[in-house]
Amino acid sequence: MLSERAKRVKPSPTLAMDTKAKEMKSQGIDVISFGVGEPDFDTPDNIKDAAMRAIKEGHTKYTPVGGIPQLKDAIAEKLRNDNGLSYESDEIIVSCGAKHSLYNIAQALLSPGDEVVIPSPYWVSYPAQVLLNDATPVFVRTREEDDFMLDPDELKEHVSGRTKAIILNYPSNPTGLGYDRSTLEAIAEVAVKNGIYIISDEIYEKILYDGAEHTSIASLSAEVKALTIVVNGLSKSHAMTGWRIGYAAGPRDVVKAMTKIQSQSTSNPASIAQWAAVEALRGPQDFIRTMVEEFDRRRRFLVEALNRIEGMQCRMPTGAFYVFPNVSGIIGKGLDGRTIGDSSSLALYLLEEAKVALVPGSAFGAEGFIRISYATSMENIRKAVERIGEAVERLS
Ligand SMILES: *Cc1c(COP(=O)(O)O)cnc(C)c1O
Repeated sequence: MLSERAKRVKPSPTLAMDTKAKEMKSQGIDVISFGVGEPDFDTPDNIKDAAMRAIKEGHTKYTPVGGIPQLKDAIAEKLRNDNGLSYESDEIIVSCGAKHSLYNIAQALLSPGDEVVIPSPYWVSYPAQVLLNDATPVFVRTREEDDFMLDPDELKEHVSGRTKAIILNYPSNPTGLGYDRSTLEAIAEVAVKNGIYIISDEIYEKILYDGAEHTSIASLSAEVKALTIVVNGLSKSHAMTGWRIGYAAGPRDVVKAMTKIQSQSTSNPASIAQWAAVEALRGPQDFIRTMVEEFDRRRRFLVEALNRIEGMQCRMPTGAFYVFPNVSGIIGKGLDGRTIGDSSSLALYLLEEAKVALVPGSAFGAEGFIRISYATSMENIRKAVERIGEAVERLS
């Protein structure tokens, strides 16, 4: 008999669509994936070389649980230089990906009955991790016309005596949009007033367009910093998803608890990947600019092309590599007795008819939208939007 906890969490809906797309591909069908959640760039050579050097030099043993001092120093320096945040070594923990950092946070903070405020649309792992830790996600819907920023007044209404934390993600997966400083300030004020932790997932910090700048909520004041756990990693910024290096920085007692939990679950992240991460943070950063310039080109093309499809409306994202078009103008249409009743049925229709795999908004708690990732070649993007346009045109 499986645990109640295991039964509480469903497999990732993004994976389900992916499995079906892979099945079609294995049958020789030319499926284009708009569902990818990782950069389609290779990890830069200087980082790979650092990993090979680490192996040769014998860095192949257990390391301190929370990360090697050299990496913690590089992370502290990054947080200081990029975010104006100052952390000591024992306020930083390196984990096996930012997802693992987030899981450690949930383990360290949550008790049964605790509530965690999650603005929707949300990244699918947030509610799953809250549920796996016997706490309750409290969803607060955000509006497209507010660029999907959480309304501080609505946050207030959803805060209760049991609220332990709020999870923010900016730039956001799935919307590609961020938060402006004044909204962050208003949210932080609610958190400080109620003594709520802020879990700030800033993994897409480096992928920004049109000169947008990133403000970490922790940098707003010492009071806010004392309640914030900043989460970041190298998966997206340095195309290192497979290396599994993420980190968190926050109050000493929280990080200490996270380290204790990590010591009894995974121990340290891979020694070799940690040395590669030191190079990623300390070495040349021009790779990021090249990658972002290419994403930017695709973003502009894609948004314009999607907005030409009748029934679709797409905001220009300011970060990450996703667009989140509103498809409510297509929902309700149909073809040959088949009705497109919601975003899932639209995604399925587009997979079958247009041979394009993408993720329905419902997977992120936002019906009436779809998520498209442009971490794929311009050629694929051109082909896929054309096919989507044709398939949507057939509906009436
Ligand atoms: C990709 C992603 C992460 C985590 O990535 P890791 O590979 O575990 O570092 C965290 N949050 C969001 C929103 C993401 O999209």
